[in-house]
Amino acid sequence: MRVAVVTVGDELLSGDTVNTNAAWLCDRLDERGVSVERVTTVPDRIADIARVVNEYRAEYDAVVVTGGVGPTHDDVTMEGVAAAFGRDLIHSEDAAAWIEEHGDYAADDLTDETTHLPAGARMLPNPEGVAPGAVLDSVYVLPGVPEEMKAMFASVEAEFEGERTHVAEVRTTEPESALLDRVEGVQEAFDVRVGSYPGEDVRLKVIAADSETAAEAAAWLRERVDTA
Ligand code: ATP
Ligand code: MG
Repeated sequence: MRVAVVTVGDELLSGDTVNTNAAWLCDRLDERGVSVERVTTVPDRIADIARVVNEYRAEYDAVVVTGGVGPTHDDVTMEGVAAAFGRDLIHSEDAAAWIEEHGDYAADDLTDETTHLPAGARMLPNPEGVAPGAVLDSVYVLPGVPEEMKAMFASVEAEFEGERTHVAEVRTTEPESALLDRVEGVQEAFDVRVGSYPGEDVRLKVIAADSETAAEAAAWLRERVDTA
């Protein structure tokens, strides 16, 4: 399964907020064996959101959009997603009923926009807040507040499924450029992919379809590289 992540918010583009939602979503999707192929950040602007969502829903199996779903005037994500589908935003009875049942307030106390979702969308309740999310075909719209985003993602996580992979890690003090022969060697000897991440030392990430192969290939590498 190939997925694109779209984070919405002027504050992300100005550097006021660190985009932890993107990193968190990539990590969770990767863990499920899903291949994340795009992470794009767009401003709180209807046309930009619509354009990117439209492009990505044609290209990927699913699109996860976060941010800008609250009821305030600067939150235009639902409008952008609705525009991508050529649909209107309409009052969602499901959203109103859920808020009434679970919130400390009646739906009448909230601004109208809180219960507005793109026509035909499936409503996603917000277990940590008020503003609901939505699913339209393969497009998932989640809130920007990290706790709300995580809780809502948990409710749809099962819909994201890829080929699970197993990872074993090897650390070495050798420079990355010196490791090419062994990195090639292990990929010839075993059915694995190897990622190499230089830092204080070099972290080699051995990725296989099953844990035994990952462990065996990592052991093969450990015997052949300098470790601290
Ligand atoms: P609200 O109902 O509170 O308006 P929202 O879904 O509209 O929620 P935003 O207005 O985009 O979300 O952002 C709400 C809060 O979440 C802000 O403090 C913002 O900085 C933070 N936030 C938004 N997007 C991200 C992100 N990608 N990574 C980390 N924090 C984020
Ligand atoms: Mg907001």
